[in-house]
Order: sequence, then C-alpha cells, then structure tokens
Amino acid sequence: LDRAAKPSLTIRLCQPRGFCAGVDRAIQIVVLALKKYGAPVYVRHEIVHNRYVVEGLQKLGAVFIEELDEIPAEHQSSPVVFSAHGVPKSVPADAQARNLFYLDATCPLVSKVHKQAMRHQRLGRHVLLIGHAGHPEVIGTMGQLPEGVVTLIESEEDVERFNPADPSALGFVTQTTLSVEDTAGVIRALEEKFPEIHAAAAESICYATTNRQEAVKETAAGSDLFLVVGAPNSSNSMRLVEVAERAGAKMSLLVQRASDIPWERIGAIGTLGLSAGASAPEILVDEIIDAFRERFDVTVDLAVTATETENFPVMRALRDVELTRA
Ligand code: SF4
Repeated sequence: LDRAAKPSLTIRLCQPRGFCAGVDRAIQIVVLALKKYGAPVYVRHEIVHNRYVVEGLQKLGAVFIEELDEIPAEHQSSPVVFSAHGVPKSVPADAQARNLFYLDATCPLVSKVHKQAMRHQRLGRHVLLIGHAGHPEVIGTMGQLPEGVVTLIESEEDVERFNPADPSALGFVTQTTLSVEDTAGVIRALEEKFPEIHAAAAESICYATTNRQEAVKETAAGSDLFLVVGAPNSSNSMRLVEVAERAGAKMSLLVQRASDIPWERIGAIGTLGLSAGASAPEILVDEIIDAFRERFDVTVDLAVTATETENFPVMRALRDVELTRA
C-alpha cells in the first residue's frame, strides 16, 4: 500500500498497561531458576496466563505441569515453581511430602490476601471471598483454610442467597483482579445485608488491576475500537475489555496476537484504544501496533493516568543469580 493512500488512525495507548510487578517477578523466578539449577525446571500451572510467555520459557527448559505427580521420578530433584496466582496449602504440603524443592512465585499481593483470610478465621469469622469460581487464585485463596470455612461470592445475587449461621461474625476478602466497579456493588450489598461484616481493607483488588482499569476508563470513551492484548483465561484482561465497553468504546475486543485482529469486522476506524493485561508482554503490544501501521497511517498518543514504581524482589535463594534478559 502506498503510504499516502492509507487512512489515518490515532492509537490511544494506555499507560500503565501490561506486565505488573507480580508477573515480572514470577517470570524472573523461572528464568533465574533455570540459570541456577539448569533445565528442567517444573512449573505448576501456567506461570502467568499468557501463551507467548509460557512458550518462551518452555524454549529455555521450563516444563509446565498441572499437578506435582506429573514430575517423573528421575527429575524429583529438579525445582518446581508455583505460579503467580498462588496455590492451596495442600500443594506445598504435598511438595514437602514428596521431598521436592519448590520455589513459590505467588505474587506478594496474593499472599497478602491469603493472610487476611487466615486472620479473619483466627478471629472467629466466617470468610467470604469475592471472586470468580474456578480461577486458580480463587482455588489458592480458598485452599488456605479448611473446607467449609470460606464461601465464594460471585455476584450480588450470591449475597442475597447467603444466609450464615452467625451474621455478626463475617469477614471478606476479594480476588486481586476483579472489576473495581462490580466489586464495589457486591461489597455494598454485603454491607447492607450484614452491617457488622469486617473487611481486611476496602477490597483486595491490586494496584495493577486498579491502574489498568482506570487507564482504560479514561481512554475508551469515543474510541471506535478498543483492543486489550491478553489471554481469555486472564481475569484482569477480561475485565479490561468490559471496562472499555462500559466506558463507551464502540467495540471492545480481546486479542492474543496480531493474527487475531478481525480486520473484516473492524472496517473504517479513526480512533483505536489499546491496552494490555498484566500478563501480556510489551512485544505483543508492539506487534499489534505494527499490524495497524501496515494498514493505517498511525499516530500514537500515550494516555498516561498513573506512574507505577512497584517492584517485588525474588526470593533470597535466587538473588545471587545474574539476570540477563533475552
Ligand atoms: Fe500481583 Fe496484581 Fe499482578 Fe496479580 S495482577 S500478579 S495480584 S500485581
């Protein structure tokens, strides 16, 4: 295509977007473990919900498994890393019983939620976890406490249905990657029905989720199309797609790679909002922008809504390994 013939397109690029400190740390842990101990390094569950990241680590020698019994007998001495989403207590206990060497890459902000849930229980409260059924973080948080101690609340309807034995002894925590707006509604419903309920904090949605949603909210209004780079099993990415739609983007879609862009559906557009979930690497954002440059005369406007300085150091065992990034 002749450049002069290309239609103009303004890309409003959200900042912050993409990797958060917890994801960055989890990936570093796998890379450093491979450097220090050599391949294979086993990783229980996708370290972060992104295929590109997973495949990159596989090339370096990481082996992804869902359960510890998949580690073959001849590799019992290889390290096993637990993903950023956190694990139920039974997992490290099982690793110990099997004499495995494990490195826990649970994000410190998820560990904080685990501690808050345990504190509620210590103080004699029934624990409510606001979150999505089946997400590994929810499985991990519920698994910090014995069965029956935690009730999952997914919606305001669940609040209506919930009738505890002692409404005066309740405490709640939330998944870290929820919609700020929806969660506020659920918390309001809980506080109305159970005025004595205890919160560990206002909610446990993390800084990265909050900042990414805020940036999308600011930039989505008036966009002909909003794209979120991320995976369908990434909770925080899916929430960004919803936020963009609610904030007024005409169309809002999740894409994993440039090859997912449905050009025929997109048609003629003048403004594109663009962000990436906390587990999506920047190289994929570049790939998307390049794909638009091939078809449009692109101007990129950086929409900065917050500056992030969070950095979570890796565990001591890996601090002596020098990190050279690919
Ligand atoms: Fe941690 Fe939040 Fe990133 Fe999850 S999204 S890994 S809780 S910083």
